[in-house]
Amino acid sequence: MSGTNFVSSVIKRLEGKVALITGGASGIGEATAKLFVQHGAKVVIADVQDQLDQSLARNLGPPDTVCYIRCDVTSPSDVRAAVDAAMSRYGQLDIMHNNAGVAGSPDHRIVDCDDDNFRRVMDVNLFGPYLGAKHAARVMVPAGRGGCILFTASSAAVTSGNISYPYKASKNAVVGLANNLCAELGQHGIRVNTISPFTVATPLLRSALGGLGEEEAEQFVAAVAPPNLKGMVLRVEDVAKAALYLASDDAKYVSGLNLVLDGGHNHNHPIFDASAFT
Ligand code: NAD
Repeated sequence: MSGTNFVSSVIKRLEGKVALITGGASGIGEATAKLFVQHGAKVVIADVQDQLDQSLARNLGPPDTVCYIRCDVTSPSDVRAAVDAAMSRYGQLDIMHNNAGVAGSPDHRIVDCDDDNFRRVMDVNLFGPYLGAKHAARVMVPAGRGGCILFTASSAAVTSGNISYPYKASKNAVVGLANNLCAELGQHGIRVNTISPFTVATPLLRSALGGLGEEEAEQFVAAVAPPNLKGMVLRVEDVAKAALYLASDDAKYVSGLNLVLDGGHNHNHPIFDASAFT
């Protein structure tokens, strides 16, 4: 074996695995799909942005490696069909990444919350991941080969104040959903984990900030929520690397973890700044 082949076989951390990623057309899901394919996984991208998804899938690899299926995560029949498509096309499902999400309108004041927005955000951000977990378990348990169910929650799940109510509620609920799944599915060798990123300048965040560009959005966030890690900016690739770790056998004993990817931001509360009292 040449040196190059040796290295590439060592670093392909998802060889032989099949992953389904919801919300894979854009942002964190897109970066994760790319990284998973680079690491040898077969990937089903499930989203509602048909054109983006199809071109992404074509660019990432041949149909026997990566494909797109239209799937609205709020539709039980769509989610069932996406999971069944992974099984029929690639013969197995090892990694279910429930990543699709929406920001909804920024309802920060409880008395002004829009009820329809609340229901819509909960539908995509909580009912969708519930359906994804349910249908993943439906095929993973009888297959008897273990598996990994991942969720993209948010650092909003571990902090409070001035966060949109439906977004905050949905992301906390996803962490709870994952914890219970971890307890139930452990006996089947299925690991269940959550990733909770801080802000990343994806289309979701940029449109929530009124359509800012990527750089402008990063600058805005740095101004209103300065990072705990000086000068560091969280990017989609960083979140994808966390997903890669949790999906790979490197995390074979990791289940029930909410991996908070915020550079320690939620621990840096001014109330604990002793200098404020001196
Ligand atoms: P994004 O807008 O780039 O990607 C979200 C994807 O979800 C899009 O491709 C969209 O088409 C898809 N989607 C939306 N509704 C869907 C539905 N009903 N069915 C199927 N797909 C649907 O945004 P992103 O930032 O990459 O978001 C990915 C996840 O990360 C979301 O769950 C989001 O809440 C979470 N998150 C984002 C941030 C951030 O700052 N960007 C921070 C923490 C958590």
